[in-house]
Amino acid sequence: MTKYIFVTGGVVSGIGKGISAASIGRLLKNRGLSVFMQKFDPYLNIDPGTMSPYQHGEVFVTKDGAETDLDLGHYERFIDEELTKSASITTGKIYSRVIKKERRGDYDGATVQVIPHVTDEIKEAVYRAGKETGADVVITEIGGTVGDIEGLPFIEAIRQIHSENKAEDVIFVHTVLVPSIPGSDELKTKPTQHSFKQLMSQGIKTDIIITRSDGEVDESLRKKISLFCDVPAEAVIQSKHVDLIYEVPLVFHEQGLDKLILDHLQLEGKEQTNNKWREMVERFKKADKEVNIALVGKYVQLPDAYLSVTQALLDAGYEMGDLVKIHYVNAEELNDENVEETFEGMDGIIVPGGFGERGVEGMILSSKYARENNVPYFGICLGMQIAVIDVARNLAGLKDAITTEIDPSTPFPVIDLMENQRDVENLGGTQRLGDYACTLNKDSKAYELYGKEVITERHRHRYEFNNEYRGQLRKAGLSLSGINEDLDLVEIVEIPENDFYVACQFHPEFKSRPNDVHPIFKGFVEAASKRR
Ligand code: GLN
Repeated sequence: MTKYIFVTGGVVSGIGKGISAASIGRLLKNRGLSVFMQKFDPYLNIDPGTMSPYQHGEVFVTKDGAETDLDLGHYERFIDEELTKSASITTGKIYSRVIKKERRGDYDGATVQVIPHVTDEIKEAVYRAGKETGADVVITEIGGTVGDIEGLPFIEAIRQIHSENKAEDVIFVHTVLVPSIPGSDELKTKPTQHSFKQLMSQGIKTDIIITRSDGEVDESLRKKISLFCDVPAEAVIQSKHVDLIYEVPLVFHEQGLDKLILDHLQLEGKEQTNNKWREMVERFKKADKEVNIALVGKYVQLPDAYLSVTQALLDAGYEMGDLVKIHYVNAEELNDENVEETFEGMDGIIVPGGFGERGVEGMILSSKYARENNVPYFGICLGMQIAVIDVARNLAGLKDAITTEIDPSTPFPVIDLMENQRDVENLGGTQRLGDYACTLNKDSKAYELYGKEVITERHRHRYEFNNEYRGQLRKAGLSLSGINEDLDLVEIVEIPENDFYVACQFHPEFKSRPNDVHPIFKGFVEAASKRR
């Protein structure tokens, strides 16, 4: 019997609703319950895969190949579970299911409407998550802010779920901003009251309110919110500022949030066994030795575009007592003149994923610089393709070698489309996505790091290492240390002479967890730390 928690947001967006939801997930897992999490995004895109990172930040990829909202990364890191397609639902997905059914004639002649047909489809997405996973609790976060027109069907659907289940099977959590007036430090609860009313007008009475604010939401403010928003004072939970996001579950626990939820849902739950998470947080907070990592990309104005990469770097550092300082380098501005000075003092260079032509030459300069100066290098996806291009051009003598993503008529297409990608018409959902296996060469850095021969990692790319150049690039000094045997594709390359030079076609950042940091990230930060 699955229970349901719905997390909504009020007042403004961007107040850490995803972290709050993920923290609730962590608390319930600490209580021995099984948890599945999902995000509903009210936009019309089928998924964020076709959106610009400037619009949306990182596109997170699940093991079964769904391109999803970056909040799923928070969920996976906090609850330490691999999520699936069922964890990411958009209005685009819901409508396309409804329209498909309509065309098939499934609605038996009915006029197809938002209520009940769209709301039924939304409810189905919630119930299906429970059925598929058998989780004790499904936590559903509704993207956007209550009152948004596009969010209305989702709010209506969760209202219906509440009314068709027992009161103890469903709980609503509302996260809000409690702003302070510039100049005075006074915190204001009025926006919270309005947000509460907005939800009430849509038939939802929230059970718990989580407040974000600059200052302390003290006893008197809590009483005020409790009075105006009709929740007990102990159900007003403060999400105060913390140094480490992983502290948020601990802050919630101190205020009794897990007990509150368990009591409402009439779930037993073990005595709180927060200790492992708490110990991890305490250990992480002791990290103090600075390690400087240059992250070279073209979306550096918006660090959210690299969220899982930066989080994995930070976590790898914490794990080893190091404070990773990330220096964002705009690849478009890098050139032969400033490369030396840009990387001065850097202990490691990372080139993460990306698409298109902009900044690529600057990235190639970066991997070349790292290779020639024995600076630890970590290339991810595009960053691996970049490493291959540098070696082709500068060690194998393949002048102007490049990926066909940029120049389809290059004489040296060292990175190229696979046959099955040539006729693809739709951009959305057609890349190589999700889990693929990779066999490691036993005589490689990758094998040393993973400690096993066959690994599975998540992918999101269209172009691949061109097998016709295997021989030439090997001879030039590139070791092809990871291969997908089923498709015969190169997944990892290394420069064995360097202290650390590993580049992979997959995205290891999606599988890194604070309590189980990814081996390549650990190896990279360790190498950078040694160089310091
Ligand atoms: N643009 C490259 C490709 O499609 C790399 C993608 C990525 O870095 N995620 O293959």
